[in-house]
This record gives sequence, structure tokens and C-alpha cells, in this order.
Amino acid sequence: MLVPLKDIMQDAVRRRYAVGAFNTVNLEVTLAIVRAAVNLRSPVIVQISEKTIKYAELKPIADVIRTVSRHVGGDVPVALHFDHGRSFAAVRECVDAGFSSVHIDASEQPLENNIAATHQAVDYAHRAGVWVQGELGVIFGKEGLTKLRGVAAARQYLTDPAGVAEYLRATGVDTLAVSVGTLHGAFRGRERLDLPRISAIAKVAKVPLVLHGGSGVAPVQIRAAVRRGIRIINVDTELRIAFTQSLRRTLGKQRGQYDLRTYLGPATLAVQRVVEGKLKVFGSAGRAVSRSR
Ligand SMILES: [Zn+2]
Repeated sequence: MLVPLKDIMQDAVRRRYAVGAFNTVNLEVTLAIVRAAVNLRSPVIVQISEKTIKYAELKPIADVIRTVSRHVGGDVPVALHFDHGRSFAAVRECVDAGFSSVHIDASEQPLENNIAATHQAVDYAHRAGVWVQGELGVIFGKEGLTKLRGVAAARQYLTDPAGVAEYLRATGVDTLAVSVGTLHGAFRGRERLDLPRISAIAKVAKVPLVLHGGSGVAPVQIRAAVRRGIRIINVDTELRIAFTQSLRRTLGKQRGQYDLRTYLGPATLAVQRVVEGKLKVFGSAGRAVSRSR
């Protein structure tokens, strides 16, 4: 059942667990995410990026998420979120298309520009009752790291707890993406979260904190981050890997096979299993309260 992100986060904040925000690109991945949430009675966030909008078109993919939430999700709460909107135009389009939350990512711009762009998005979204995620500090991926020549150099871009309260006040965002040691992509447990930094940010932030780049981070690190105040965790790469590896395996074994369902089915199930594992680690499994509309 599709609900506003606000409804999901109220319970997560009160009971101190994290909600998974999983990226989808098509029907199969959406089914996998929602089936996992139903299996484990967990609230979940389904999100799309600008690249996915280019690939699948905004309204069709948004409708896929809505209809899967309604017809597969049952009474399990599912929220629709726009991940990494780089421009006001993109954010506005998603607000108008009925998303309950949007991320405006102006984090690579100088602070004043970040605040101005984020404030503009908040102004527009809040008039429609839509939540906005801001980002303070820069979260890099592989390309960024090459530019920076390594993980050590990336540390200067971590979120500074001293600037958080002012950023929240100046922008009015509802959730905050923080840079605390994760990277975009799966780095097989090599990422080290800056746990004291998470605690310091959580102390001054009155909004749910979002951890990007949740793929490949060791469960023990994730659990510690949740204890210290992370309330939303983004996972994308691990789902892509599970889907693609399954496809390669099945296609390699069945070269004469032309029924799409025989290889998309196992790939979808592989993604579902990854999501289920995450929901257990995040502490959201079993938290979907029964309700009817
Ligand atoms: Zn991200």
C-alpha cells in the first residue's frame, strides 16, 4: 500500500530502526523489493533516479511502483521517493507526479548555492505536502574517488556536524543525507563508517538521517550506524549485481532458451533475497503495523 514517507518515518524514528530505500528500474526489481517487504512485514521505500526516468520514463515507472504497491504490497507501507535530483526542474516534475519525497542533491556546489537550491526545492515541495531530502557533505562514487586520488582525500568532504543545525534551519529539509564514510557502489566491506561522526550529527539533527551507498557495507557497521541514528539506508548496487549475476548464470546455462520469464524470474528472486537480508539488518522487518483503509 502506497503511503507518504512521513507515515513510515514517524514509526522508524519512534522505534529507532532504519528503513531501506531501494532503487528500481523496472517491473522486475519493483516486484522483488515489494515482495521482500511483504514477506518480512517491513515498511520500505522504493526510489528512482534521473537515469531511470530517462530509461523508463517518469509516469510509466511511477505507475509501476504504485500498482505493485497496491496489488502486491497489501497493507505493507511503501513510499515513493526520487533519488538524487540534480535540478529544480527534475524535482518539480516528481512532486507534480505524486511522489511523497524528493532528494535535491546540490551537495557538490558551494554551501550557499546548496542552501539556495535546496530551499527552492523545499518551498515548492512543501506546498504540495511533499518531503525533501537535502544533502550536506559529498558522497562519492568510483569516478569521484579517482578524481580525488583515494579514500583518504575524500574525508574532507564528510559532513561536518558543526554545520548541520544551520543547514537544516536555512533549508527546511525533512530528511538529511550525510557523508559519513560510505561511497556509491559496492566495495565489499572495505568502507569504514565514521560512527562518532554519525552520533555527533544525530545529536544536532532533528530530522531522519539518510545513509547513501549502503551496498557492500558490513552488517555490523550498518547495525552500529542505525543505533547511532541513521534512519534511512539507500541500496542500489547490490540489487543490480544480484540481478545481473543471476541473468549471466541462467543465460550461460540455457543457450537455446528464448522465454524471458525463465531468466527474469530467477533474477527477480535473487534481488528479493538481497532485499530481505537488508530489511533484517536494518531492523525494519516485522515493523509493518496492520492497518486498513
Ligand atoms: Zn546516493
